[in-house]
Amino acid sequence: MTFEDFKLNKQLLTACQELEYSMPTPIQTEVIPLALAGHDVLGIAQTGTGKTAAFGLPILMKIKYAQGMYPKALILAPTRELAMQIAKNLQDLAKYTDIRILSIYGGTGIQAQIAAINQGIDILVATPGRLLDIYLKGELFFKEIKTLVLDEADKMMDMGFMHQIRKVLEVIPSKKRQNLLFSATLPEKVISLTEEFLEFPHRIEITPSATTAETIAQSLYKVPNLKTKINLLEYFLADEEKFSRVMVFARTRKNAENLYKYLVRKYDDNLIKVIHANKGQNTRINAMESFKNGEVRVLVATDVAARGIDAIAVSHVINFDVPIVYEDYVHRIGRTGRANHTGEAITFVNMAEEYHIKKIENLIKTKITEFELPTVVEITYTPHEEMQEMKKAIDDHKKAEDPDFKGAFHEKKESNRPPKVTKKTDKKSPKDKKKPERKNFNPRHKKNMKKKY
Ligand code: AMP
Repeated sequence: MTFEDFKLNKQLLTACQELEYSMPTPIQTEVIPLALAGHDVLGIAQTGTGKTAAFGLPILMKIKYAQGMYPKALILAPTRELAMQIAKNLQDLAKYTDIRILSIYGGTGIQAQIAAINQGIDILVATPGRLLDIYLKGELFFKEIKTLVLDEADKMMDMGFMHQIRKVLEVIPSKKRQNLLFSATLPEKVISLTEEFLEFPHRIEITPSATTAETIAQSLYKVPNLKTKINLLEYFLADEEKFSRVMVFARTRKNAENLYKYLVRKYDDNLIKVIHANKGQNTRINAMESFKNGEVRVLVATDVAARGIDAIAVSHVINFDVPIVYEDYVHRIGRTGRANHTGEAITFVNMAEEYHIKKIENLIKTKITEFELPTVVEITYTPHEEMQEMKKAIDDHKKAEDPDFKGAFHEKKESNRPPKVTKKTDKKSPKDKKKPERKNFNPRHKKNMKKKY
């Protein structure tokens, strides 16, 4: 099948050629004809499968050229990065038309976005919160919306956007509206949303196992502790030619920041950037941009911050920490092996994380190949505290599986401890002592202020 077979107009075909879309991806082959025929679609596919063009091309075909002031299509996305990414992809596809595409999202000035809306738009890509903020100010009119897309619906549910989405559905016209919903996974909440939102939808499923297994080589390394994980990461990053553009995923903002700080001490900090939710919007955009255009080789990221980043030529995804939201594994590794490229995903697993890897393997219906640690990688001693933390995590997993499980770690800890004796005395504990009143206390006085850090 070719893009010509969809009978797209010349402007769109030229743009596809320029973007080097030689053949439609599987989701495009399935979704484009259905969407062009006006059907509602439920697409189960992750980012990286070409789903933006799958819903974008039919929307652009339907709108054809710039007309009027108000948006004709609305696309909702969970994060600002994804909203920007979708808008950019659509702008590239609409390059030879005059269709106006705008993305709006929180964390950045609302006035500039309102001013852009007032210039007249055809397609609006938005995060739900900012969309409602602007709508409630009376600056947005939905009466001409004919197509509504919910992208990454599972993530929107995870991020608690159900309420906002319901509100949006209440205020946009439902008559003759085409609805498209995309989700990487299909949890209960998304199913109930599809029942509310879609009318007789056609369900198209591009299974993660097919997409992950075919284009992405997945491997895992069992690593005893954090320091050894860092040694292994350094070992890989030393191969600059092969590891030319790498995303390193950490589970928390703190882990991401620590890892980033460690790496910049070792390498040139222009080659490494970090994105997580504590970083300002502009810092995140700059980091993303320089990663995309190849100035930055390594991007350390948390899951939420990384959503929607679309860097086609990511050579490797390294899971420094195993994700505990298992669907995130699918999202993470979807950054590599995009569309017609091949990629590699490498996961570092400590003994507490083995539990999560088993669950992930069940989800993706694939056994991830395990490799021995390369002999040159130094295996360091596990500090006591880190070992205790891992043992505790293992106990917690076992307890979650079997409520009767007593917990080897807790028991041992308890039995080593002398029994607690609670003596009753008349003596007052130091806590009960009344604090002496402070005289001359002026809260504004610098001396009396507590240091924050
Ligand atoms: P998406 O899943 O929409 O985020 O798309 C992933 C990446 O694949 C984007 O960079 C698209 O530009 C690219 N892409 C989409 N469709 C095709 C295609 N038919 N051939 C090659 N690349 C594509």
